Amino acid sequence: MTHDAKRLGEFELIAKYFAPLAGKEAGAFGLKDDAAYLRPTAGKDLVLTTDAIVAGVHFLPGDPANEIAQKALRVNISDLAAKGATPRVYLLTLALPPAIDEPWLKSFAAGLKRDQAHFGVTLVGGDTVATPGPLTISVTAIGEVPQGHMLTRAGAQLEDDIWVSGTIGDAALGLRVGQGELVDFDDKHRATVLARYRVPEPRLKFGMLLHGIAHACLDVSDGLIADLGHMSEQSGLGVIVEAGAVPLSAAARAATAAKRMSLSELLTGGDDYELVVAAPVSRRKRIMALAERTKTKLSRIGRTTKGREVLVMGAGGERLNFERRGFTHF
Ligand SMILES: [Mg+2]
Repeated sequence: MTHDAKRLGEFELIAKYFAPLAGKEAGAFGLKDDAAYLRPTAGKDLVLTTDAIVAGVHFLPGDPANEIAQKALRVNISDLAAKGATPRVYLLTLALPPAIDEPWLKSFAAGLKRDQAHFGVTLVGGDTVATPGPLTISVTAIGEVPQGHMLTRAGAQLEDDIWVSGTIGDAALGLRVGQGELVDFDDKHRATVLARYRVPEPRLKFGMLLHGIAHACLDVSDGLIADLGHMSEQSGLGVIVEAGAVPLSAAARAATAAKRMSLSELLTGGDDYELVVAAPVSRRKRIMALAERTKTKLSRIGRTTKGREVLVMGAGGERLNFERRGFTHF
């Protein structure tokens, strides 16, 4: 780690809050070296992914520090889950504006500690810098899959089933709640969707076991329809989705019934961090058993077809049109 952050003194900040997160990981050297090493397990490939989150873009500036930490780590764990990988270590870069104080850092580190235990991953390095701009947190996560078995977006085959984990659209609703909208919406629903936005639940236990069963997989970050578009494009196939089969939470159903959010907004809202899986029809029972074993809600929402389009069909077989396929931050 190199360090520019002034508030605590660079070494103090690392020693007090981040070195304990490196624990006994031999290659991390207690975060006292310039670099860490990682020895891959025999017969495994390393899977590498990185995602940064920025205040005001990917989280709200007033969100609790421990939950911001969890989100930063979890969006990366979700990418590993989508690759069928088991997490091992991560690197963390923090760009801290002047307003960040010690209680904030303490809470932030506590959030990381909690999730490290939850996902079996260890901090092995990183960097802290001062910035005049918004708080920015970048995580690089490294996991492992059996050699040659990383799941990609490109492997879907014709007539595959399309499955999705969990429920779709809650984070989009949660963002609205976080922004001070939907104030008259049911309190329990408000709390549920806000939590889904702030602390997504990567489907790691399920994803880790998908290699050898799924043909293709990705996690929903841009919005279900946009991310299905990525799979369709990379696999060179079309996708037909039955809108009525897309799993919605009680909160999302209440929101659509009350016309507070449209189905289109839920399906294109993003930040769900659910897994979309393409798998052959012949493995239907296996994939359902895997979901049950890992206590993962799993829904079959469509199938791959010839062509290159993502078609969303309504209850009467009519084609639904979405003005906005997904949410992009650019
Ligand atoms: Mg992803």
